[in-house]
Amino acid sequence: MAVTRTFSIIKPDATRRNLTGAVTAKLEEAGLRVVASKRIHMSREQAEGFYAVHKERPFFGELVSFMISGPVVVQVLESEDAVKRNRDVMGATNPKDAAEGTIRKTFAESIEANSVHGSDSEENAAIEIAFFFKPEEIVG
Ligand code: GDP
Repeated sequence: MAVTRTFSIIKPDATRRNLTGAVTAKLEEAGLRVVASKRIHMSREQAEGFYAVHKERPFFGELVSFMISGPVVVQVLESEDAVKRNRDVMGATNPKDAAEGTIRKTFAESIEANSVHGSDSEENAAIEIAFFFKPEEIVG
């Protein structure tokens, strides 16, 4: 199977609780390699642009406010079948539904403050990576 890339965000609930390393360890244990990483504080414009696909959803405003409530860590992850591998280790959106051992089951506070974002397709991964990283910032 081909080595592919996906995009990840460690969300403000996790950075606030000093869990950047713990979350990244889970990603690495799952076989994902961090090939780009930076800690940023998103502007409202950036968060609205990033989540534009969710614009019509009732929680859009709350989601944007949450994502700019503190620093996040944006990362590019690489492995065989990276999108699925990351989604598997993240767990279900609602931590109540997430499987044992997943990041969200272990760390998430709520359906909103659920510690991590992960691309849902290779197509979206490419778009999301380009939203935050220049090609030369990714070192595989
Ligand atoms: P994901 O792909 O598992 O992250 O889930 P979605 O794409 O469905 O939702 C994007 C993000 O919106 C989630 O990760 C949550 O942070 C947030 N979210 C999803 N559902 C809800 C909800 O019902 N209420 C609120 N406040 N936030 C939600």
